Parts: sequence; structure tokens; C-alpha cells
Amino acid sequence: MPKRSEALEFERIVVPTPYAVGPANVYVFPSGPVSLFDCGPNTPATETALMLGLASIGLHPEQIARVVISHGHPDHYGMAPRLQALSGAEILVGERDLPKLADRSMLLATGKLLLQAGMPMEELVDMGEREQRLGELRPEVKDARPLRGGDRLAFDGFDLEVLHLPGHTAGHICLFHRPTGILFCGDTLLLDISPNPLLEPDPLDPTERRRSLVEYLRSLDRLSELPLATVYPGHGDPILDPHAVIEDMRSHHRKRTEDLASILDREGKSGWQMAGELFPSLEGFDNFLAVSEVVAHIDLLVEQGRAEPLTRDGVTYYRLAEPKG
Ligand SMILES: [Zn+2]
Repeated sequence: MPKRSEALEFERIVVPTPYAVGPANVYVFPSGPVSLFDCGPNTPATETALMLGLASIGLHPEQIARVVISHGHPDHYGMAPRLQALSGAEILVGERDLPKLADRSMLLATGKLLLQAGMPMEELVDMGEREQRLGELRPEVKDARPLRGGDRLAFDGFDLEVLHLPGHTAGHICLFHRPTGILFCGDTLLLDISPNPLLEPDPLDPTERRRSLVEYLRSLDRLSELPLATVYPGHGDPILDPHAVIEDMRSHHRKRTEDLASILDREGKSGWQMAGELFPSLEGFDNFLAVSEVVAHIDLLVEQGRAEPLTRDGVTYYRLAEPKG
């Protein structure tokens, strides 16, 4: 019998990931073209959890018509090619994150940025090997369709608005149901964890590094102006007081920026050196997160005129800026 519901209808399926962040959320929209928002990583455990979750809502994977990806990270898009093979589903992703899904060139460009931030080559190689041991986590996605801010996705009885909110990645998108103030936010807001402003090449010019935290703080400003009620994140439980979480994020980043300012000197330190001071004894992928966190906050200090970059032997160092006037 055809559904005649006028209301936003969705279900959440929680799937495991091999990452420290823990399980990820897949949101299922069963009315109209059956759609998923995010689909979890490409692991057998995720596939099992996703299939069981779909069955519990009475859906077969073959019915999936659209897989919308919040951003091009493996814990959110990895299962997409598998689902596409099962159902012929269309894959949609924020325009600026298309290159992350298309091939490995963005990954190589990220490696170069890490070396520039002072990460030793052996650490970079170790990080790559650890990830390879987890399986094929970054499968290529063929023929993904780009989404832009302002696009609308139509379902039976309701529409979702695409918001482009860069920060965590360049092409991060969220889906907004304005009548209820419900936002599906991917990794833009998370409870109890701050979404890392990751070191990432600029998709428009992969030799340049994005100012991810500068972009993220602007996205928070935009979010804070929206009539948000409940926010459904990419990891963890629904966020019932999104405006308080936005405020927490801002103060977390202000504090981290001051922590960094306090360890700068006049000689200059690389992102890798500062990450070692702030987060000692990290390994593998955590090193990437730590360097990202440091470099992102240094961008703010540079913008405020409190730090200045200098390059020696291909590595960027930052030092306390000369006091002006
Ligand atoms: Zn994530």
C-alpha cells in the first residue's frame, strides 16, 4: 500500500567502525526513493550490521535508490560501492569531496602536507601500513553525483535541504528539514568529541592546504543562526541542545588556540613538534589527528597576527610573531 505520510520519516542504524571514534550512524529514509545518509565503512562487520538493520525496518538492500554521503571519509562512505553493486543506487556527495572518492590523489597530496608539517617519513609509512592492515577502507566510487548547498532532495511528503558546511572536510554537507528543525549533520557537530579540523589539501588546488578550522568556525556561525531543534550526528546519540554544543565547540577551539600560543617561541616549531608537546606518545592515525589539530589552530594564530610561518628544507615552522608597533 502506498505511504501517504506527510511527515519526515527516518530510522537510525548503528554500525561498527575500525576507528577510535567508535560506531557510526546510518540514517535510512524509507519513504519515496529509499535513501541512506551515510553508509558506514567497507568492512564485513559493517555490512552485516547494515543488512540486519535494513531487514529490521523491512527493507532489502536492493531497494536502496540513493546513498547520500555527508563527507568523503572512509567511516561514512566506504560501503557505498558495495551498495551500488547490490542495488544500482545513485551515490551523491558534496561537490568538493568528489575528488576524495574518485581516486587516491587526495590521499597522496595529504601525505605531502604531513611531511611539510614535519612528520617523519617513517611515521607516514607506518600510518599507511596500519590502515592497509584494516582492509580496503578507501574503495573508489564510480559516477558519484555532486551536491551543492541549496540543492533539495525530494521524498514522499517532504524535502531535505542540502547545506554545504565545510570544515571537517571541504565538501561536507548536512541535510536539513526546516519545518521540524531536524538536521542530519554528519561530523559537523558531535557530542563529547570535537570533530577534528583535518589536515587536507584544497580540492581546487591540491598543492595548497585548506584552512579547515577557519572554515569550520564560519560553518558554526551559520549553524548557530538556523532554527535547530534536534541534530542527528554521524556518530553517537541525537543532540538535543545543539546551540549549547555549538558554544562548547567554540570555547574548546578558543582554549586549544591559547594552549598552542603558549608553546610558541621565537625559533619556530613544526606542527609535528608541537603535536608531540601537546599530545605525547601517540601512534599511527592518532598522529595524523594530532598534527591536524595543531596546524588548524596555528592557522587561527596566523590569522590573528600572533604567529608567523617560515619554511626550512620543505618543512613549515611557526614562530611567535614580532610584536607590531
Ligand atoms: Zn566520522
